[in-house]
Amino acid sequence: MIKTDVLIIGAGPVGLFVVHQLGIIGLNAEVVDNLDKVGGQCIELYPDKPIYDIPGIPECTGKSLVKNLVNQIKPFKTNFHLNQRVQEISKEEDKWKITTNKNKTFIAPNVIIAGGVGSFEPRKFSVKGAETFENKGIFYSVKDKNFFKSKKVCIFGGGDSALDWAIELSKFAEITIVHRRNEFRGAEHSAEIARKLEKEGKIKIKTLFQIQSIEGKDKINSIIIKKEDGKVEEIKTDFVLGFFGLIMKLGPIVEWGLNLDKKTIPVDTENFQTNKKGIFAIGDICSYPGKLKLILSGFHEGALAARACFKLARPNEKYRFEFTTTSKNIQDKLGVKTID
Ligand SMILES: Cc1cc2nc3c(=O)[nH]c(=O)nc-3n(C[C@H](O)[C@H](O)[C@H](O)COP(=O)(O)OP(=O)(O)OC[C@H]3O[C@@H](n4cnc5c(N)ncnc54)[C@H](O)[C@@H]3O)c2cc1C
Repeated sequence: MIKTDVLIIGAGPVGLFVVHQLGIIGLNAEVVDNLDKVGGQCIELYPDKPIYDIPGIPECTGKSLVKNLVNQIKPFKTNFHLNQRVQEISKEEDKWKITTNKNKTFIAPNVIIAGGVGSFEPRKFSVKGAETFENKGIFYSVKDKNFFKSKKVCIFGGGDSALDWAIELSKFAEITIVHRRNEFRGAEHSAEIARKLEKEGKIKIKTLFQIQSIEGKDKINSIIIKKEDGKVEEIKTDFVLGFFGLIMKLGPIVEWGLNLDKKTIPVDTENFQTNKKGIFAIGDICSYPGKLKLILSGFHEGALAARACFKLARPNEKYRFEFTTTSKNIQDKLGVKTID
């Protein structure tokens, strides 16, 4: 059981910045995210694309914004609990008890939902048996590439993840890429490398094919793939990787008794509290008249929610507004050298 002032659901740009806003007013936070890395949409959907509307930063990529947000909260030494989804929230006296699908439990007077468009989940194979082999023979992400050393691996998909992993794993595994189209969606440069590796006999590429069945009992022995024209082929393989993109699901959040408006959570714009005391929603997931789904709006929402959390986490203390420029108190928390 982990006790904290604030449990933050979502490590997207907004979840990251609210750690800062909580930290400078003396509140600690724990952050949970379903993904294997921080950064939310910026990292998962557009890491290398430019953003032009972050105040004071004329241009940055999704990746560089996240890097800077992470650097900015380093002084607070926050714990990130990745690869797990917040599953349940229940009331425990005057606090909230939060449980993840990996059975981690948190107790906090405040919960900030910065869940964006919901938890990202991989699109999966729909063929019979795919579920049984999941995390044994079938994977939708690579946690440790060495696991595939000297193995036969079939990689499905035509986007960046499929191409990048095919290229990387081809250094020490037997790779077959299977894609339902002739053209790849991923970066042209990666597609060129994959084609070059195919010519050199280091990768096999099967286009216009889709999976038809998975053969094997306790482990995968082979897969059957079917071409558009009806032609069927069997490929002996140890593992199958599927990279079909991500779907965004609001997931368990819909079951927490919060008011919902379509796929968003209505909030009070004074403090970004939901209909439940101590549960706040900020960033893309919250809604109110005039809401803009922009990173800069999420930063503002986080600043206000953090101050509201203070009241519940420190009921006997008075919150004092201070500027970072002139507050020795905040500068000490940030560990910066102060100017007298
Ligand atoms: C292609 C593209 C370009 C964009 N360009 C711009 C731009 O130029 N400027 C701009 O301001 N905005 C832009 N946006 C929008 C911007 O990315 C979003 O407004 C921003 O990411 C919202 O941040 P967030 O932290 O609220 O949510 P997200 O970034 O969506 O992060 C939410 C996180 O919460 C996690 N999560 C959700 N539910 C759970 C759960 N139950 N348990 C655990 N974790 C959970 C998710 O895994 C995710 O990591 C763009 C978006 C896209 C797709």
